[in-house]
Parts: sequence; structure tokens; C-alpha cells
Amino acid sequence: MLIKISNLNDGIHNLEFEEKIDELELKEPFSGKYLAEVKLTKLHNRIILDISLNTTAFFECDRCRVNYNSNLQNKFQMVYLFGDSPEESDSDNIVYLPPDTNKIKLNKELRDYAILSIPMKKLCSEDCKGLCYRCGKNLNHGSCDCETHQVDLRWRPLVELKNKLNFN
Ligand SMILES: [Zn+2]
Ligand SMILES: [Zn+2]
Repeated sequence: MLIKISNLNDGIHNLEFEEKIDELELKEPFSGKYLAEVKLTKLHNRIILDISLNTTAFFECDRCRVNYNSNLQNKFQMVYLFGDSPEESDSDNIVYLPPDTNKIKLNKELRDYAILSIPMKKLCSEDCKGLCYRCGKNLNHGSCDCETHQVDLRWRPLVELKNKLNFN
């Protein structure tokens, strides 16, 4: 992804980029396209980019093992200063550019932040019920027969009451 910065007026510019994920050299679990919404603030000696990156990725649910796709989002900021780099630069998000620079290339940053947006815990939905640990049935599709034998302790008083009522 390239942002042209030659002939850019001072002020705020809102830009949008939609490109194939291949452009960032990203492979699985990413697929399709990415969308980057960029708020570019140009000042006389610097450019600030506020970037919102949206990608699509395929994962296997940690609980039910079903494949699902997920929209990932990550926001980050980059600051470009015109001039020589000082001896020490302690931030990856601050870049020094020669004054005659006319394009900013963001592929590496987009790739890094896309990878950072992959969640540690992968769930097809927040309340995924997972698989039955006995028969392996996906409990999101309904309960299995094991459950009637394996009554959760919290429900035991209710079950006992129900049994009592049935006997009367
Ligand atoms: Zn699941
Ligand atoms: Zn079961």
C-alpha cells in the first residue's frame, strides 16, 4: 500500500485502500481483501497516519473445532518526520523521511498489525457450547443423549423435584 505525499496540502485527508491480502504477503489464515482506512494529518514538518486495518481470517474454533471466518480489526498510528534520524529511535511507529520523499509504503506495518490482530483464543462465537466430551457431538447443534445421564450438580434439586412429581 502506497500513499502519495507529494503535493499534499497541510490539513486532514481521509483515504481508503482496498487491496488483495497477497499485496501484504499474508497467507493463511488471512484471505480475501484488506481494507485500510487512513486519516492522514499533514503538518509542515511531519505526517501523522491514524490507520484502521480490517482483514478477514479463517480459524478453527478452540471449543467446537468448526471452521469459521472472522473480521479482524486493528488500529495504529504512524508518525513520519522529515529530516535526519537521530542516533537513537526507540519507536517503530516513528519514521524519519528524507525531505524529498514522495511516497510512503506501509506494507510491512500493515502485515505486522494484521498478524497482531489474530486472537489468542479462537471462538466461533462468545457462547460456543463446544463438543460433548463423551460422544463428541457439537452441542451448538443441540444436546446429546449423554447429557440426560450426566446432570449438572446445580440442576440436581430440580431433577429430584421433577422425579418426585412424576411419581405422585
Ligand atoms: Zn465453536
Ligand atoms: Zn454426548
